[in-house]
Formats: sequence, structure tokens, C-alpha cells
Amino acid sequence: MKYFDTHAHYNDKAFAQNREEILDKCIKENVKYIVNVGASIGESKESIDIANTHDFIYSSIGIHPYYAKEEKVNDLYNLYNKENNSKVLAIGEIGLDYHTTKEDKDDQIRRFIEQIELANSLKLPILVHTRDASLDTYKVLKDEKIAEYGVLLHCFNPTDDLVRLVLERGYTVAFGGNITYKRSPSFKGYLDKIPLSQIVVETDAPYLAPVPFRGTINNSTNLKYICEKLAEYKNTSIDEIVENVYNNAVNFYKIND
Ligand SMILES: [Zn+2]
Repeated sequence: MKYFDTHAHYNDKAFAQNREEILDKCIKENVKYIVNVGASIGESKESIDIANTHDFIYSSIGIHPYYAKEEKVNDLYNLYNKENNSKVLAIGEIGLDYHTTKEDKDDQIRRFIEQIELANSLKLPILVHTRDASLDTYKVLKDEKIAEYGVLLHCFNPTDDLVRLVLERGYTVAFGGNITYKRSPSFKGYLDKIPLSQIVVETDAPYLAPVPFRGTINNSTNLKYICEKLAEYKNTSIDEIVENVYNNAVNFYKIND
């Protein structure tokens, strides 16, 4: 069984002491690919560096809604051009997050749209972060700006709006450790509707460690617990899940496996 972590942050300071040790462990436990995701210009640069120094790691670059006010998409574009970008596979994480504040809503929406345009111009898919903003996310993706090279909704937390969009447009959704948490039975109804061909898994390491490691520093070797839970929800075998989500991720990121 091979695993593909579609979203992780190994540049995070949580890994400062033992990054290489953990990445070696990932390789030993059959993690074949990791996409390391940037959330700001600075992190995107770190993400590119990690990808360029590890064969099995690729990267994504983007400005997270948290930084929508202060960071500029033109600087992201300049970073892409200045660095060796051969392993940059996506623009993300980008999107909308009204959980902490809605005050900068307009900046968030503008930055989101600009980065979809950037992704289209670079012929790359986008990785979308959406939290407490599903209706606006729906509106941007559906009416404001079409992402032409693929959409992956990261840390997918289903709502009626988003599930409708996923089904209408054939988007990919990534499930993470939160599906193993207690309140997760609400996922069941949605998971029945979303075809396995549109599902991938992610850790969002160092965040969101699944049960039984909830609360610890997450890493890509924990993907198996997420797959186990998906198998339970989808009423199928773990092997079936692992194989499908791996192939879906390879296809989404267009990796020559
Ligand atoms: Zn993330």
C-alpha cells in the first residue's frame, strides 16, 4: 500500500528539531509523495526549498486568507519566476476564512480571485481553504472566476453549498484527521454522495492529528487512520480506499508516477 499526502506543512517550526527523521520514517512507511503547502510568501519559499531538496516532496505556493490584507499576488508570481519552480504543482492554500474575522472580507475575496487568475495563467490547479465561508466560496468558484486546471477543497468540511459545487463541477475533496473526531458522524451523509473518484487524503501536518494521536504533532504516517475511517464511512475495504485516493492524488497533481 502506498500513500500520498496531498497537503502538509513540513516547513513548520514544529518540525525544526526532527524534520529529516520524520521524513525518513514517512518513506519507510510507504508515503510515496507529499505536497508541502505554502500559506504566505515566506512559507511558499520554504515550501519550494523543501521540495527541491527531497525527491518525494512537491510543493504548492499561495497566500492564505489570513495574509490577504498584507501580501500581494504579484510577489507570489515573482517568487515563482525567481525560484526553481519545476516541483510547484499548485497554487494554494488560498480561499476564504471568516472564522476569526469577517472584517477583511473584501480583501480575502479579491486575493482569492487574483490567485485563481494566477493559477489559470500558470496552468496549475488550486488548493482551497474555506472555513465558515462556504456560501462566498461557492459564489467565487461558481460565478466570479472559474479555476480551469482543477480545484481541491482542502480539509473538507461538508456543507450543502460546497457538496453541490463538488458534484456539479467534479472537484476533488481532501479529508483529514478531523473525520476521525467525535462529531464526525455528520460526515456520513455527505460521504455517501461524494464518489470515491473525487476523494483524496491529507494530514495538514503538523495540525489535525487523527485519533488515536489527536493533540500530537501530526505527520504523513498517520494517513492510514484517515483511510481506515473513510473505509468505514464508505462501507468498503481499507485497501480499496488507499488505492483509490492514491491514484486520485497522482491524477489531480499530474505526477508521472
Ligand atoms: Zn494547511
